[in-house]
Amino acid sequence: MPELLKVNNLIKRFGDSTVLDDISLTVKKGEVVVILGPSGCGKSTLLRCINALEDIQGGEILIDGENILTGGKHNSKVGMVFQSYDLFPHLTVLDNITLAPCKVQKRDKAQVRDEARELLKRVGLFDKEKSYPRELSGGQKQRAAIVRSLIMHPELLLFDEVTAALDPEMVREVLEVILDLAKQGKTMMIVTHEMQFARAIADRVIMIDGGKIIEENPPERFFTNPDTERARQFLNTFTYESVRA
Ligand code: ADP
Ligand code: MG
Repeated sequence: MPELLKVNNLIKRFGDSTVLDDISLTVKKGEVVVILGPSGCGKSTLLRCINALEDIQGGEILIDGENILTGGKHNSKVGMVFQSYDLFPHLTVLDNITLAPCKVQKRDKAQVRDEARELLKRVGLFDKEKSYPRELSGGQKQRAAIVRSLIMHPELLLFDEVTAALDPEMVREVLEVILDLAKQGKTMMIVTHEMQFARAIADRVIMIDGGKIIEENPPERFFTNPDTERARQFLNTFTYESVRA
């Protein structure tokens, strides 16, 4: 499979603090890469850099071989879903979803609406197109936010802790949508604290700590027999036994 994303020697600083310190990674078309690491290690910043929402202090980020900061067309190639859904409160679900493809991509309104309905059906929201965000549960809002991203046809989808603000029973319905996207062959980078989900969905796990990639392995290896002591410690913080011991 060809490479879709290439990050070469990325450096990101906020003032004097170096948050991403020489990060290099590659994501192939159709691959699902899960990014793990402790809070504050730079996961969100990495995704924001890849989505061209941050200036960078060193290195380069290429999508389909094109530098995202000079290439200009990156915005249509990368989609991102955040922890907070950021739906417009005064617009219906359907209008939230169709706004950008119609206004930004100048696509045909009727076609976009048809596609929106198709996608809403796929995530179990076929009857919610006329609802306003306040009328939806957190899980429904997050699924609508995923549709809003999908309808732009991004080549690379970034998910940043999309279930972190949800009640447990809603986590599953959102994770199932993402699992379904993986089955369809979508290329994704996923930041999550749901370890079982990470293990189930990842083709590859990348762990970041102290601004550096400290381990990169297939999930079977990472979750059962990681190379680094740091990864082992990190994984232990998620097991009940370690809390009781
Ligand atoms: P993570 O998502 O892994 O929890 P973040 O990428 O959000 O970590 O943050 C990494 C580090 O960068 C943290 O120390 C955070 O305080 C800092 N940081 C993030 N955004 C900014 C910003 N806009 N200005 C200054 N510091 C920031
Ligand atoms: Mg974060």
